[in-house]
Amino acid sequence: MARYKIAIVGAGPAGYFSAQALQNSETEDLTFAIDLIERLPTPWGLVRSGVAPDHPKIKTVSKVFEKIASHPNFRLFGNVELGTDIQLADLTARYDAVIMCTGSNIGKKLGIPGEDLPGSISAADFVTWYNGHPDYVHVDVDLGIEAAVIIGAGNVAMDCGRILALNPAELDTTDTADHALAKLHSSHIRQVYITGRRGPEHAAFTAPELRDLPKLEHTDVFMDATAIEEALARATAEAIDGELEKDIRNNLEAMRVVAEAEKAGNDRSLTFRFLSAPKEILGDGKVEEILFGINEIRDGKVVDTGATYSIKCGLVITAIGYEALPIDGVSYVKGKIDNVEGRVLGTNIYTVGWAKRGPSGVIGTNKSDATDVVKLVVEDLTAPKVSSDITELLISGHPVVTQLTWEAINAAEVAAGEPLGKPRVKAVSREELLKLGNLLA
Ligand code: NAP
Repeated sequence: MARYKIAIVGAGPAGYFSAQALQNSETEDLTFAIDLIERLPTPWGLVRSGVAPDHPKIKTVSKVFEKIASHPNFRLFGNVELGTDIQLADLTARYDAVIMCTGSNIGKKLGIPGEDLPGSISAADFVTWYNGHPDYVHVDVDLGIEAAVIIGAGNVAMDCGRILALNPAELDTTDTADHALAKLHSSHIRQVYITGRRGPEHAAFTAPELRDLPKLEHTDVFMDATAIEEALARATAEAIDGELEKDIRNNLEAMRVVAEAEKAGNDRSLTFRFLSAPKEILGDGKVEEILFGINEIRDGKVVDTGATYSIKCGLVITAIGYEALPIDGVSYVKGKIDNVEGRVLGTNIYTVGWAKRGPSGVIGTNKSDATDVVKLVVEDLTAPKVSSDITELLISGHPVVTQLTWEAINAAEVAAGEPLGKPRVKAVSREELLKLGNLLA
């Protein structure tokens, strides 16, 4: 019987699904010892610090993660940072394979004038701020203004727009971080715009997110019905045999429902603007206005008409995708780990998830991704390495969040939420988290 040591770096969905794929590949002759290394004191990655707090159903996947973690071949090493507490070379030397599941956490930049003005922030900072990620608690989010504009027509833009536009009372029974919930309650924002540079037919939203919009009780949602019908006509004309792709059809149908829904006259609004390309963010020392070029679709191509319009606003959030923050010892191309189908060629390093394929797909996409890459890991295995345990490498006294420690942190957060009707109250600093795990006095 061969037992192989596998290190997984990054305890988000890609990390857990990689562990699960390894567990599913075990046979009588092939077993694994899996160490999951995570720089934060908390696991679950985007499920904790990315998924919008008003979407608790999506977070139930954490139950699957905890089942994976309960397997006897699994160990968690939380609060252990690659490059600081441990080096990638230490892992490649000791483990038979290292699977990098480190995601992409830097927001892409627009590259337009005014982007660095105060009041212009990335969704990468805003989402982690309201979700209580320890590194983003102090992001300066100015909500003392009337209007906010989100750039991008994807699900992250949708999350940012919804969180700003809904009545914050709707978040009171969620796990929104306390500091963010307090600030949202005192927010002056009443108009939120979500803008896409192409047409409604090209939007990257998914239909379930669009179908959720009419459920916002205290916010009127505006989409231009004519723009949706024009998009439908264009997309149908371009479709093979006039048969619209299912995703486009579902999206446009959901948009039509939003456009036609009766408005309740709420003072809070969420307005969608398509064919709007951001040109410049204007303001004297802070964001005051954003200028858009008006695009049109000509012969299936997006063309700048030369005309412009602007929206007065005090906050601009850019939600146009993410890139990976490079980690020493592995090369990156276009914001992703340089890999061929998950193999980092010439090494025993592999990659799964957004670090491998870029920021695309939903949480479940990482499951099939992990299964495919783990097949390659198994295919490449030779004789198991004889090596010392990773614990020898960690500085003595360094507080490591094991699975048991995490369970204590998790239980304490959930218990704190119970009397308030919340799924949990998040601890938002490393110190607080380590205290909950009894690793700090
Ligand atoms: P995304 O889906 O790739 O959307 C990015 C958006 O930014 C697109 O509309 C894109 O427009 C636009 N964009 C890119 N560059 C731009 C530029 N220079 N100027 C203006 N617009 C620009 O990315 P995402 O929203 O960050 O989401 C990442 C992944 O997470 C997606 O797969 C998403 O579905 C998933 N996610 C899922 C959920 C959920 O299931 N509830 C929630 C959040 C995120 P073009 O198409 O014109 O390039």
